Amino acid sequence: MSETDGLCVESCERCPALVESRSRIVNGVGPDDADLLFLGEAPGQQEDEGGEPFVGRSGDVLDEALRDAGLSRADVRITNCVRCRPPENRDPHVEELENCRGYLEAEIAAVDPDLVVTLGKVPSEHLLDRSVAVTKEAGELQDVRVGERSQRVLISVHPAATLYDASQRETFSAAIAHAAELSGLADADGGQSRLGDY
Ligand code: URA
Repeated sequence: MSETDGLCVESCERCPALVESRSRIVNGVGPDDADLLFLGEAPGQQEDEGGEPFVGRSGDVLDEALRDAGLSRADVRITNCVRCRPPENRDPHVEELENCRGYLEAEIAAVDPDLVVTLGKVPSEHLLDRSVAVTKEAGELQDVRVGERSQRVLISVHPAATLYDASQRETFSAAIAHAAELSGLADADGGQSRLGDY
């Protein structure tokens, strides 16, 4: 796979602070033709160690919401705005987001998803290119320009928000269920249908 297709970046030294803080580049995972693509902010410690996005506590929350919506992690693509762990998990700086933007645009163009779900404020503002009140706007859809394409985007709160604020759980689950429904991937009733068969 070439470095420029965005699916697998093997080496990059564009962000000196991130080169310093990362142990590895964390590329997106999931089918390279997924209908649904989830976009997080940046790898945290566990992602940096494991080499996969959303494998820590936030990942558990995401996996559970996917399951509740009748989806599995293997059905979807999961990636981040920046692929290297920022020091002390700080937000990525604007120039770091810009440095990684080409990889993200190439990944989205290659995967060609029906829907991108932005997980939290940083990815939502990065793709929508405006300030976003994620809690208020969660569940809203917008068409945005990503590189050469027009992309349908659904805004969601970040899964970690549910760990700090229980009232965000419903908002998060509803956004994921909405994404599953829009992508046509979930069972018609959100994965519950088989329960009635037993
Ligand atoms: N939070 C993110 O935004 N991305 C990850 O990969 C993990 C946690």
